[in-house]
Amino acid sequence: MKIGAVIGKPIDHSLSPAMHNAAFEALDLPWRYLAISVPEGHAAEVIEVMRTVPFAGMSVTMPHKAAVADLVDSCTPIATVLGAVNCVWWRGEELVGDNTDGAGFLDALDQDEGYDPRGQRTVVLGAGGAARAVIQALGEAGAAEVVVVNRTAARAEAAARLAGDAGRVGSEDDIAGCDLVVNATSVGMGSGAAAERSPVDVERLGGGQLVVDLIYEPATTALVRAARERGAVAVNGLGMLIHQAAHAFRHWTGEDPPVEVMSAAATAELARRA
Ligand code: NAP
Repeated sequence: MKIGAVIGKPIDHSLSPAMHNAAFEALDLPWRYLAISVPEGHAAEVIEVMRTVPFAGMSVTMPHKAAVADLVDSCTPIATVLGAVNCVWWRGEELVGDNTDGAGFLDALDQDEGYDPRGQRTVVLGAGGAARAVIQALGEAGAAEVVVVNRTAARAEAAARLAGDAGRVGSEDDIAGCDLVVNATSVGMGSGAAAERSPVDVERLGGGQLVVDLIYEPATTALVRAARERGAVAVNGLGMLIHQAAHAFRHWTGEDPPVEVMSAAATAELARRA
């Protein structure tokens, strides 16, 4: 039996156990995958345990992504650039950290929306961990512009640099006329009044745009609803979550991930909670 886990805090609402256990079962692999609540500042102990007991793979979420980048034996180039790890696996005797968020985001655009960011004018709202992965991925994928709009200007500057020549800091004014808008802030997450908030003035959204809100709980945020009302195509972040997990699954098992199975498990888990 191989053991996998996701570490983070809070962790109760993670969809990773549902997705990965369904995938292991579908491929008849002898794995069990757990969610482990690990307080901030304690990732080192978990990585030490991973070295001594047969943990075969680990997912890493808030607040440990940066800490784990310093605890593994090596990082992939993308995890090094982002300074954040969301997936750990064994390569021989070596613990390797990767960041699959950007690849998962691009796969969701491609496989779920048939959207290629090459040559597109894009706006990313936010400059935190998720935004940085998306900004880097859009730059790498050949977007013509990756405009970063964030509450804290210094973080926006650093994040925009991840997109290379395509990256710059902008404002909400850049939204009108762009092709893709990504909300990578936490505005709109949660329930009640918090879920009714949009990170931008929705009057700026319109037909011909793709709007991706990385939030998936609630499934339809105020931003997604308003974007659709104004004629844009709008989706939530569940696709990115599923596809980043699919990349982790491939690292751990070497097998092609059963993405449909993982998607169905995530959707069923969300429906069960609703
Ligand atoms: P993070 O590192 O804490 O970054 C949060 C971002 O939101 C920062 O840019 C922050 O701006 C901004 N923000 C927070 N409160 C704000 C407010 N009241 N007004 C304006 N901006 C505000 O978090 P993260 O890990 O990047 O996650 C961001 C979102 O992405 C979350 O909703 C998370 O659930 C989602 N996410 C989704 C996936 C997926 O697979 N779908 C993966 C990762 C994250 P400042 O820089 O000014 O503080």
